[in-house]
Amino acid sequence: MKILKNYMEILVLQVIDEVLGNSNEEICKCDDCRLDIAAMALNNLPPRYFASEKGEIFSKLSLSHLTAKTEVLTQVTKAIMHIANKPRHRIDKSVGGA
Ligand SMILES: [Zn+2]
Repeated sequence: MKILKNYMEILVLQVIDEVLGNSNEEICKCDDCRLDIAAMALNNLPPRYFASEKGEIFSKLSLSHLTAKTEVLTQVTKAIMHIANKPRHRIDKSVGGA
């Protein structure tokens, strides 16, 4: 059985892990924040849907889409900065304002 997949979604999540993995800055890396970052980046990127066998491995795809990756990296970086500045949870101390 085939299912619809958005290649951009896979690529965005991959890039987020790469960027967060290489970052020493204080960016929350929990699933909530990763998904917030992914959603924000994906809203600024064109979808790339394809039909795929369920459970198929996508590692090959990533190598053939280096051009898309540059654009993904730009949007992911923007989204990370936005989320890092406006964390929606784990606010231990009220800093007031905002
Ligand atoms: Zn978080």
